[in-house]
Amino acid sequence: MRLRNNPDAMPFLEEQADLVFINPRDHLGKWHEVLGNNNPIAIEIGMGKGDFIIENARRNPDINYIGIEKYSTVLTIAVKKYLEMEALPNLRFMKEDAAVLGEVFAENEIDTVYLNFSDPWPKKRHSKRRLTYASFLDVYKNILKEKGHLIFKTDNRPFFEYSLVSMNNYGVCFHDVCLDLHHSEGYEDNVMTEYEKKFSPFGPIYRIDIDFGEMNG
Ligand code: SAM
Repeated sequence: MRLRNNPDAMPFLEEQADLVFINPRDHLGKWHEVLGNNNPIAIEIGMGKGDFIIENARRNPDINYIGIEKYSTVLTIAVKKYLEMEALPNLRFMKEDAAVLGEVFAENEIDTVYLNFSDPWPKKRHSKRRLTYASFLDVYKNILKEKGHLIFKTDNRPFFEYSLVSMNNYGVCFHDVCLDLHHSEGYEDNVMTEYEKKFSPFGPIYRIDIDFGEMNG
């Protein structure tokens, strides 16, 4: 998502200290303490405007959700949207880059990682930027609990195929691969993202559900 930089975004986010983590590395290994309970922690990396994580937090009050976004301008849109709704004590936001999440969360601290419609970086020379490239899988493997899941959705077929191969080469355990999320049985509780709403009329949505369990053991 490329938006014109909003110079008011960072000052706005800094004012929301109870809701938005601007320096999340300070809390490495202490997230349950910070969140005030021992409930599972689910993160969405590259949250965009927040529809998915807000609706998940509303549906599942016993799970802690953290929406993570690299760009302050985008994050501000999500936070402002949330502030107009009924407060959800189990939802927080974080401004951070996926690449450094190993410095933010300790090993085994996270129960679920969601990657929704991540940027596909179609040029081969940019493949290391894809959030399903091996170096990013290293990050997710380290922060996820042994039986924690990584759930990935995209409408981009080449990116889906690339991700399937990348995950397979990494040696993950596949729980589920779905080639048409909106027209398959068993996914009635699917929560749509902004991109999903926008692009699903034009073709199938692909979904992959994996864990790194055996590898962590
Ligand atoms: N998940 C949302 C959805 O499905 O509607 C947004 C999808 S948008 C294509 C990808 C989002 O990932 C953008 O908001 C972008 O700023 C964010 N992003 C890209 N690279 C990132 C990174 N390395 N770390 C965190 N967020 C990132």
